[in-house]
Amino acid sequence: MSLFGTNGIRGILNETLDPELAYKLGMATGSYFDSNEIAIANDSRTSSILLKEMASAGIMNTGKDVIDLDLFPTPGLQVYCKARGIPGIMITASHNPPEFNGLKLVRPDGLHPNKEEEEKIERIITGDLALKTTWDFVGKIRREDGTDIYIQSILKYVRGATIRSARLRILADLASSVATKTTPALLAKLGVKYVSINGNPDGFFPGRNPEPTEENLADTINFAKSGNFDLTVAHDGDADRAVFLDEKGNFIDGDKVVALIADHILESKKGNLVVPVSSSYLIDHVASKHGVKVIRTKVGAPIVADVLSQTEGIFGGEENGGVIYPEHLNARDGAMALAMILDIMSTRNEPISKIVSSLPDFKIKRLKVPLTKDFNSIKDRLLEIYKNYEIDETDGIKFISGEKFVLLRKSGTEPIIRIYISAMEQEWIDGREKEIRRILE
Ligand code: MG
Repeated sequence: MSLFGTNGIRGILNETLDPELAYKLGMATGSYFDSNEIAIANDSRTSSILLKEMASAGIMNTGKDVIDLDLFPTPGLQVYCKARGIPGIMITASHNPPEFNGLKLVRPDGLHPNKEEEEKIERIITGDLALKTTWDFVGKIRREDGTDIYIQSILKYVRGATIRSARLRILADLASSVATKTTPALLAKLGVKYVSINGNPDGFFPGRNPEPTEENLADTINFAKSGNFDLTVAHDGDADRAVFLDEKGNFIDGDKVVALIADHILESKKGNLVVPVSSSYLIDHVASKHGVKVIRTKVGAPIVADVLSQTEGIFGGEENGGVIYPEHLNARDGAMALAMILDIMSTRNEPISKIVSSLPDFKIKRLKVPLTKDFNSIKDRLLEIYKNYEIDETDGIKFISGEKFVLLRKSGTEPIIRIYISAMEQEWIDGREKEIRRILE
């Protein structure tokens, strides 16, 4: 059995995640990488310090030193590792519910290891092949603040003076976790006034679930509607994602955020765009405006990042609020997305709702439905109904008609099916939803 899932190691402390695994991963990391130093950071979860201390002890027992960045975003650790050319370990379960935690490795280039590298590291753990130091070479541990390195990297790609002169005032929902450390620091550097909520690190996430979906943000949306803010940003638990509300408190669809940032970047540089098959065709309008291509991948940020590096794409993103700007970091970064949106608002000097409504109004509906029937029989029925549609099997099965589509993906981990329906016409979406629900029931 593989220790690493699609998101590194994830589980619930002492149920599905043994803290000794953190110690072993620390030893394997110290053994696998040449570097004499390994950076480590954690989110705000109740078990994060425990797991960090275990992993740190493992690293020190290979004779390597630990640089502890403390509470820090995943992309922050990645930027730090890239800048220093050293590997790292992130203790986080990202957007998962509070009881979960996890460990994620970072390579010296700031990216996550690929499957092959993970297998090698896993073999060190399962084969008990880690280096063991002697009493006179035990590693040391020191604290460092990585905020400056991280924020400077973001600031390189936005017009700080323009943002500062726009005198924006925003609401920042920091998700009771790592964004409390860095998003206020970024906003201060950019001269943006802000009010924060969920602004204290708390592993119980008392304000809201760490996944920034529209449903989970109900209180934030209410606050945004009453507060007269130019923009609201809400992060997930490890701040590699950011979602936005406009000045009226309306949720801005992730696809539209991706399209706006892509358009903004393509104004000054050219390159192809990479998105998962679940994205609407809005991005194709942006691409054709700038004469670039859209490459569609399987769903998942690591896959989008891989394809970005293979194809030298300029920008990528997902409809769930993950944007990837490889020049800065070839991984999702919520603070980078925020800085870009602030840049767009201040450059265009228009309310964000007006900027968003200048885009073609593609809508996307996402559904998560329990799977009670055989998937193949559902597929056969769909192939009958949608026999005149174009079919794409990049990930699940997608039926395409012009710029409209229906995508069904069977989950690999739960008995559910994920459905995406996208078009500009709401009636078309509603019609397909009814049709599909009928087949699934
Ligand atoms: Mg995350």
